Amino acid sequence: MQDAQSQWSLLTRLVHEGERKPVSDVVPTTTPIYTSATYLHPSGAALDIAFEGAAAYVYGRYGNPTLTALEQAITVAEGGVSAVAFGSGMAALHVAILAAGTPRGQTHPQLRSILAARDLYGATTTLLQEFFASQGVQVTYCDMCDVAAVNAAIDANNPDVVLVESMSNPLLKIVDIAELVQLTRAAGARLIVDATMTTPILHRPLTLGADVVVHSATKYLGGHADATGGIAAARTGLVGDTMRRYSKLLGAILGPFEAQLITRGIKTLALRMRQQCANAAIIAAWLEEQPEVAHVYYPGLTLHPQHDLATQSFDGLFGAMVAFELHNGGKEALFRFVDALQLILPATSLGDIYSLVSLPIISSHRDLTPEQRAERAISDRLVRLSIGIEDVNDILADLRRGLEVKG
Ligand code: PLP
Repeated sequence: MQDAQSQWSLLTRLVHEGERKPVSDVVPTTTPIYTSATYLHPSGAALDIAFEGAAAYVYGRYGNPTLTALEQAITVAEGGVSAVAFGSGMAALHVAILAAGTPRGQTHPQLRSILAARDLYGATTTLLQEFFASQGVQVTYCDMCDVAAVNAAIDANNPDVVLVESMSNPLLKIVDIAELVQLTRAAGARLIVDATMTTPILHRPLTLGADVVVHSATKYLGGHADATGGIAAARTGLVGDTMRRYSKLLGAILGPFEAQLITRGIKTLALRMRQQCANAAIIAAWLEEQPEVAHVYYPGLTLHPQHDLATQSFDGLFGAMVAFELHNGGKEALFRFVDALQLILPATSLGDIYSLVSLPIISSHRDLTPEQRAERAISDRLVRLSIGIEDVNDILADLRRGLEVKG
């Protein structure tokens, strides 16, 4: 090889020179960003083995070392056996549902019935409707906080998959994961928990027996509004392997640059979460006192219907999301409130270091029908805040500014 290379013309050498130098005994402190779309193996036989599924890298759509670092961090954080990183939270949810709906011994999903929480991120409901219900899968929604209702819905619908959010978007309802695990298992179904809002810092659904935990890594895991991604971790090898296989086929893999940013974000997740939750608790208590505010949704408030459950479940934290309803609603009033803010950004996301405001009626739940929104109490008086790491006094002053203009 070396001999032949020295004979190559300048034209050929410009293409190949400097590439493929193995890093011998030098170990970088952080995992580099592997942009290579292909990986070389020492022989045809070695490549054959790699294709067979040995733990080696072959092709960019299957994985790369930068992704592996992120997947390993989440596997450990969630207490699972494996994790798969995706290009977005929606891709992670899609594959998680397909994998959870694949019976043992089968190589393809056999979904007949999905039982989902009525309170879900709007696009998740749309995914269930447009990709599953439209294909003949029966999709039923119920209030996952009401155990009797869940029991009845399981009996009536015999679901293959049960899907919930650990803290619902945007009304911050809390579900009892341990209880749902029991009900789901008794029905022979698998439980998927979207834990985007809580992160492994508040709780770890796999350790309670959930089958898959999904995150929009765009949110708290990344945390800096600079990477879109998703991740799904599995409790069992069977479901984890199935997610990996479907990920390869559907190709919704996370890019290496984003993987590196999200891995870096995870290193400060605990610090950010604690600061953001502390700020949110102060803000929720303050909002409760404001005359312009009709109702505050925050699991840390004693009036929150699942306050006790949140206290038991979340390790003393209550999350960093706060939602509230204004006394005087209507889109125009909501817009006046948002337009008056100077610190809190009107960006349609959550979990960033920056404080964000969103209006579910025009953003996360826009695609729902008016009836679906009414059933879920998503009104034109509802404001959702994602509290950042800024000085809480500056956030409070900004909220006062918004309420005054509005009032
Ligand atoms: N799950 C929840 C709870 C979300 O809030 C979101 C997005 O806002 C998603 C999933 C989808 O994530 P992504 O936007 O990364 O696809």
